[in-house]
Amino acid sequence: MSDQTMHDRSFDTLIIGAGSMGMAAGYYLSKAGHKVLLLDAHSPPHEHGAHHGGTRLIRHAYGEGAAYVPLALRAQQLWLELEQAAGAKVFARTGVVNIGSGASPFVREVQRSAVQYGLSVEFMNGDEASRRWPAWRLPAEYLVGFEADAGVLFCEEAVRSYRRLAIALGATLAADTPVSRIEVQGDSGVSVVTARGERFTGRDLIVCAGKRTPALLEPFGVRLPVTRMRKTFAWFDGSPNLFAPGPMSAFAFASETGQYYGFPDLDGAGLKLGRHDGGQPVDADAPLVPFGDEPDDLPELERFLREYLPDAGALRVGRVCEYDVTPDEHFIVDCIAACPRVHIATGFSGHGFKFASSIGEALAQRIVSGGSRLDLSLFGLARFGEGG
Ligand SMILES: Cc1cc2nc3c(=O)[nH]c(=O)nc-3n(C[C@H](O)[C@H](O)[C@H](O)COP(=O)(O)OP(=O)(O)OC[C@H]3O[C@@H](n4cnc5c(N)ncnc54)[C@H](O)[C@@H]3O)c2cc1C
Repeated sequence: MSDQTMHDRSFDTLIIGAGSMGMAAGYYLSKAGHKVLLLDAHSPPHEHGAHHGGTRLIRHAYGEGAAYVPLALRAQQLWLELEQAAGAKVFARTGVVNIGSGASPFVREVQRSAVQYGLSVEFMNGDEASRRWPAWRLPAEYLVGFEADAGVLFCEEAVRSYRRLAIALGATLAADTPVSRIEVQGDSGVSVVTARGERFTGRDLIVCAGKRTPALLEPFGVRLPVTRMRKTFAWFDGSPNLFAPGPMSAFAFASETGQYYGFPDLDGAGLKLGRHDGGQPVDADAPLVPFGDEPDDLPELERFLREYLPDAGALRVGRVCEYDVTPDEHFIVDCIAACPRVHIATGFSGHGFKFASSIGEALAQRIVSGGSRLDLSLFGLARFGEGG
């Protein structure tokens, strides 16, 4: 069942969903001396949630809102610490170019957040950027902000590293153990019941079960406005002279054409490209149809390449993944009013992985000391008229 024996039924903290957020929280809680049980429907890292596909961007100047910057800077520091503690490669400093048409709110916010927090971001127009990174053909009037200290996280390796370290610190991982129900026992604690009928009890509970989070919390009258979206990404051929790290950086792109992100050819895997906006809403229970089964899966990526990265070559392989999207695309990190010991972390809207380390740490701080050092008020449920 797990990496450790499951004779123990009683823990300080239970975590439903040992993915990006849950595994990190499990590590920081174990480090603080808590007795932790992580329960996951699969054996993370895996391909049934939101953390597969090899790589994730970490950007510090933040197009989705300057309020994220302290969280991103702390996350970066924690990722570097994780590399040291785990002896694993979790981060590559490829640099990130943030690209936007002049009117793009995304790139304007990158600029604003860089100024507000004194971040080192080099701004230039599309012509200069295309000269500097010759794979690009950007319209001259585009605004481009280059952040040399940002880069790429190896997402599965990060989850694997947290898993190894948490278990070494005494955490118990119940893999392949879906949770079907939560029960709150007044002030005395919280129980979870697994699909096999086992019951485990804890003083605190974190629910970060991706697409399953809304259904697990519904019995408490909490309605989480989260939509599961099917997303695609793919790897393409490309000459190393143009697409290897160095000649090319990782990128985030926003214009009237759409929002895209991508990675240079890391270790010969090919140029990776994904579309951030769009996608198809899918019920939590429904399987994701494979890449290529929706008519626009490949064409929407090829259109982008033809226009902006015309030297990219043929498709190597395409994949699907999922986002849990909130109406304002900000996260949900809160607890439920009926039981403040039940913490929620979900709705990461396709940009959460970079923060898994700092959100995991903040969740652990909330449980250990009643509050987190970083301000998470942007992520409260009250903004949806929900108090939990
Ligand atoms: C294609 C793609 C590209 C992305 N690119 C970026 C990027 O560049 N930068 C970035 O910051 N973010 C990016 N993201 C977003 C980021 O990966 C997610 O926001 C993040 O992984 C969400 O973490 P999570 O913990 O909510 O979900 P997950 O990591 O999926 O964890 C949820 C866990 O809950 C478990 N679970 C589900 N139901 C149950 C149950 N009933 N009982 C027990 N366990 C259960 C699942 O098995 C899973 O392990 C991207 C996402 C995708 C899909």
